[in-house]
Amino acid sequence: MDCFDAAAEGRFRRRFFPGTGAREWNDAGWQLRNRLRGAAEVLRVLPDLEEEARALERPETWRMPLARTPYMAGLLAAAGAGHPYRRTLIPDVREVRRRPGEHSDPLGELPHQVAPGLVRAYPHKALLLATGECAAYCRYCTRARTCGGGAVDLGAAVAYLRAHPEVDDVLISGGDPLVLDDGRLAEVIDAVRAVPSVTFVRIGTKVPATLPQRITRSLAKMLKARRPLWISTHFSHPLELTARACEGLWRLTDAGIPLMNQCVLLRGVNDDAETLRALFEGLIRNNVRPYYLHDADEAAGTGHFRTPRARGRALLREVARQTTGYAVPRYMADPWPGGMKHPLD
Ligand SMILES: *Cc1c(COP(=O)(O)O)cnc(C)c1O
Repeated sequence: MDCFDAAAEGRFRRRFFPGTGAREWNDAGWQLRNRLRGAAEVLRVLPDLEEEARALERPETWRMPLARTPYMAGLLAAAGAGHPYRRTLIPDVREVRRRPGEHSDPLGELPHQVAPGLVRAYPHKALLLATGECAAYCRYCTRARTCGGGAVDLGAAVAYLRAHPEVDDVLISGGDPLVLDDGRLAEVIDAVRAVPSVTFVRIGTKVPATLPQRITRSLAKMLKARRPLWISTHFSHPLELTARACEGLWRLTDAGIPLMNQCVLLRGVNDDAETLRALFEGLIRNNVRPYYLHDADEAAGTGHFRTPRARGRALLREVARQTTGYAVPRYMADPWPGGMKHPLD
């Protein structure tokens, strides 16, 4: 299933980034600095985009900026013309459509923001948005409003946690905290850990899928020294489970970091039993437990990604009949205007 193996990656690099050696390409910093951000750059490496190109050429219709690592661009190229996976990262003209009931803050997080970058929607859990940057911006992003924003100042968030010892569970997310370098990420984890009442720390990241070059030995070592620490990954399609991505997953579990996966049910991309089963079983084979399958929320301009809940339930039931229980996530909805998620299955 790996359409973007080391050989394909090398071919893509030599063809479209001829001045770049393997060493640079494999450097996460190079990948981040060279994210593709404009229509011309994307069309250069994906000349076979057809329908999608219409939106690319009209940035005023985009619901959020565009960026993806050269690695991700290569994966989209390898997926092939018309592959539905491309929709997760290529702007669509339908993004401009705002339907009734859609919101720019679909999880209702703003009213629950208790300090800059700290969201508390549950009595004992808090969500720390460590940065607004990601290695690639998913077009269905629920947090498009923070997209591209820089790192937050942790002072007020940590002060809040110290003053509220009932919060014992902190989820470090963003943006994507793994775009921070090892030193900065260690500072964030340590600052949260230093709050005596915080007993459970986890990280939410799509970097293992979008920038596997970031999962270095030194990162694994740094995280290992900070256990217990759990990571939620975000794989949405089996194509993302390239050999390189899987290598990163093994490196993380070798370091003793348990991995869970959250993915969003996306119409026309992964809303069929075969794709979901391939994704969930691929995750299990690489030590990742499928945790949540999120119903696509009512984020403004994402109507074309939503699947009826009855269909989501039926799909998950079908997958559950076909595979091991470990591979079956819970089907979850995030209610508006904010508050706790609830299971739909
Ligand atoms: C989802 C979420 C969490 C974590 O929820 P779990 O169900 O424990 O994984 C925490 N805070 C916010 C705001 C969330 O949306």
